[in-house]
Amino acid sequence: MLRTILLTGGVMGAALSGYLPLVYAQKKRLRPPGALDEKDFLSSCIKCGQCVQVCPVQAIKLADLVDGFGVGAPYIDAREQACDFSCDAVQCILACPTGSLVYKKPAFLGVRKGAKLAAAPILKAKEKDAEPTLNLSERIGVARLTRPEACLAIQGKGFKGQVRGASFKGRMRYMEVNRWKPIRVADHPYDVAECDLCVRECPVKGAISIETVFAPDGTKRKSPVVHEPCVGCGVCEMICPVEPTCIVIDAREVWNT
Ligand code: SF4
Ligand code: SF4
Ligand code: SF4
Repeated sequence: MLRTILLTGGVMGAALSGYLPLVYAQKKRLRPPGALDEKDFLSSCIKCGQCVQVCPVQAIKLADLVDGFGVGAPYIDAREQACDFSCDAVQCILACPTGSLVYKKPAFLGVRKGAKLAAAPILKAKEKDAEPTLNLSERIGVARLTRPEACLAIQGKGFKGQVRGASFKGRMRYMEVNRWKPIRVADHPYDVAECDLCVRECPVKGAISIETVFAPDGTKRKSPVVHEPCVGCGVCEMICPVEPTCIVIDAREVWNT
């Protein structure tokens, strides 16, 4: 008990004294879709939590005390719960009352090179709809295969079972189950001869694919390869069955060709 009090007091003291803000400022949080560039986002967001309320998979969380300057600001921890766009229309942007989340930035704010998407993303779930695109003009990050040596596809391995274990609380919509009702990932086990789960569950058309690549020893392998339409939603990071994940989102990273 005493230890808890001391620790809590220490954390609070550090946060209030400005130490933790400096530490956590180094940590790049993934912001919700449509977020303005970090400085503008943090100065305009009033921490009202409207975006949190409308998200059907509860992907958006509000930062706590240890986030220092960003305390109360919305963020997404993709490994725990990614944005799977199961709201169909980027509802968090619609709900934001301050323009901190926007479909398209006002011209005076400018767009960082590589942040702008080449075209409006096509949402696989809406491919058969009259309007299959998401009204989104900038990415929130870019997926990156950080541990290729552990990737099951590269090793030629499949996957069977619950990707993140029985206790994983993350949710996602599965079109073959119910378009309008996300279910727990734990309730949707897989059985694939060669892992392609990051590709299979990516909600954006053309953002990632399995390609043939050559290993350093010259042998042919299958590997996930990320492409320009990647918006940085984080579904690939959440669904990767390897621990720790082989693929992560570089928050606020731009597309480098
Ligand atoms: S776009 Fe993503 S984060 Fe925003 S409400 Fe929809 S599912 Fe949630
Ligand atoms: S590659 Fe990953 S981060 Fe990029 S759009 Fe697909 S699931 Fe989202
Ligand atoms: S889900 Fe993970 S292990 Fe499977 S192919 Fe993608 S990165 Fe590799």
